[in-house]
Amino acid sequence: MRRQDRNERKRKLIRTVVFLAAFFLSAAVLGKGCYLLVSKCVSVFAQGGGEQEPVGTADGADAPEEIPVPQGQQWNGWIVAIDPGHGGEDDGCYREGVSEARVNLELAKGLSEKLQALGFQTVMLREDDETLPSLEDRVTQAAKAGADIFVSIHQNAYDGTQSGVSGIETWYCDTLEDSGRLARLIHEGAVKKTGAVDRGAQETDDIYVVRNAAMPSCLIETAFLSDPAERSSITSKTYQDKLTEGIAEGIVAFFK
Ligand SMILES: [Zn+2]
Repeated sequence: MRRQDRNERKRKLIRTVVFLAAFFLSAAVLGKGCYLLVSKCVSVFAQGGGEQEPVGTADGADAPEEIPVPQGQQWNGWIVAIDPGHGGEDDGCYREGVSEARVNLELAKGLSEKLQALGFQTVMLREDDETLPSLEDRVTQAAKAGADIFVSIHQNAYDGTQSGVSGIETWYCDTLEDSGRLARLIHEGAVKKTGAVDRGAQETDDIYVVRNAAMPSCLIETAFLSDPAERSSITSKTYQDKLTEGIAEGIVAFFK
């Protein structure tokens, strides 16, 4: 029995050595592709070490609920111009003590932080609540900075008689290639993350910044300040975080 065991072990060892030799020989011959294969294998064996594809169990019990968006580096070089609508003496819509301009700036700052954490560069087209850059200035500033996309943030209001008017709508002008795709992805991301009413991504020629931006652009109206529930949500940090996460996911999807 002992001798049989020894022989069996010897055969196993030989099989392993032959397999490894063949593997590394093919890696040396085939070059880059194989090295990718090697690094893939290593990460799979390391059980979830940084690759995007999660290694789940057959019944999915241990699979993560969400695939995290990869942090840093990947999106280096892409520049996003963020335009917080209104500012200075122009509050935009103002309801029950809530200023659209201020909400726009809070959301723009939150979005900028999230994008920077992902490795994007951002250009804020308004930095504070005291200044009111003209629409022309905003478009020019984005072009000068070499922005790849332009995202304008606004709030909505409704003064009609219908009750419960709320939700997110996103506008684009289709004279620029890819603006519609950008608008739809950002819109979908924001609606999905917040669960807000989906009022659609729609085409328009009436909005100066999306019509004149020199790069794919859209304008998202993230809440109705005229709706008490939505006015309350949009001023909460938790809801703002969900919203800017959704917008950031849409931007990531656009550059993929
Ligand atoms: Zn506005």
